[in-house]
Amino acid sequence: MRAFAALLALATLPALAADSQDKVYEDMAVDLLQRYVQVDTTNPPGNELKAAQFYKAVLDKEGIPSEVDEFAPGRANILATLKGNGSARPLVLANHMDVVPAEPARWSVAPFAGVLKDGVLYGRGAVDMKSEGILHLVAFIRLKRENVPLARDVMFLGTADEENDFLGAIRALSPEGFGKQLRSAEYLITEGGENRLDATGKPLYFGVQAAQKGAYWLTLKASGRTGHGSRPIADSALNRLIRALERIRLWKTDLRVLPSVAKFCRDQVPQLRPPQSEWYQDIAKAIQDPAVAAKVYDDESISALLRNTVSITVVHAGTATNVIPGSVEAQLDVRLLPGQDPQAFLAQVRKVVDDPTVEVAPPPHFYQASESNIDTPLFKTIESVVRRHFPGIPVTTKMSTGATESALYRPLGIVAYGFTPLLMTQEEDASQHSDDERVRVATVRQASSIFFEVVAETARKP
Ligand SMILES: [Zn+2]
Repeated sequence: MRAFAALLALATLPALAADSQDKVYEDMAVDLLQRYVQVDTTNPPGNELKAAQFYKAVLDKEGIPSEVDEFAPGRANILATLKGNGSARPLVLANHMDVVPAEPARWSVAPFAGVLKDGVLYGRGAVDMKSEGILHLVAFIRLKRENVPLARDVMFLGTADEENDFLGAIRALSPEGFGKQLRSAEYLITEGGENRLDATGKPLYFGVQAAQKGAYWLTLKASGRTGHGSRPIADSALNRLIRALERIRLWKTDLRVLPSVAKFCRDQVPQLRPPQSEWYQDIAKAIQDPAVAAKVYDDESISALLRNTVSITVVHAGTATNVIPGSVEAQLDVRLLPGQDPQAFLAQVRKVVDDPTVEVAPPPHFYQASESNIDTPLFKTIESVVRRHFPGIPVTTKMSTGATESALYRPLGIVAYGFTPLLMTQEEDASQHSDDERVRVATVRQASSIFFEVVAETARKP
């Protein structure tokens, strides 16, 4: 009887066991996320030490040692490592623990209460990026509990201050932080991926962020004679600044197609109608036609991925209507493509301004645009796991126009991808940094299994 039962179990259990195991970790993910969003890590001031302690308490219970590095009062990073056999370099799961401020009066629920209603979890950080942090944590715990044989170390890293100055990641990479361990990594997964759904809730693509633009903010300054507003000065500081800004406004920066952007366009073809579907098949070729190039240039959904951009965002000038100001200033939000030399771009801006009396000053410090190779085993693993769960849905490469901590890791030779299997409608996605930030519990559950599979397969393989 016993033997028979065992045989029966052998015959039927594996599939069932996998499913019921998935459920254990899906429940764990939802429970932990609900508690984690209740840890208020609004930055400023951050208080990420509380989040690090939250993670540490969970890891302690699992018997996984971790190190909390409080590098400034209340500011901390946390690192935990599951040791591999050393045949491959480490994989890092990196998540920032801080969140942007929330205005409670604008929310329908308290932003730090972890309210769960109608299958939706609300809270500041529910999207950016406490849900991803919990996916990292649950995958990490599952590797340990299921004794997955590891070819490489897998590290769980929580950082402070991503939303402001990257102080946490900078510290983590320093010798005083976790620099020695982190710098040996081959792969790093963090935020930045974007998956798009259609109106019916079906995914159109999973987007891995393998490249991001660099923010290179410029300041324009002019000074000159002041005077009475009733007696105009033709070449006043403000008039010259306005002329410079107008030249910048009219300037068309060159269109340039990076390989990852060409792939992103191609991957969208099945969902598009002519003429876009024809152009996107080979966007580099299509924009050789000036008429197509002009249309693409004006299309906000793609334009910023194909060129260096300049937005005029700040102008400081004047204090009274009847006083001609003597010094004025404007700021430009410039975003450069990977591969663009900032000095060369600065020279181009000065040429466009074409007025030596208007100073164009570069930023005191900035992060270069960065790009990771997509021809890697990790990318292929993401593709194959996603294909298993969502047959026919492409995994594409969505360059980010904003910045994530990947900007710090890529220059060290670490392949850094923004990847999350969370599926969000455009509205849910837009709730990050906004009001009623929220994520559907169903996608958290499903994502926890998908993310684990990606991590386990990557960790197993040398
Ligand atoms: Zn974030």
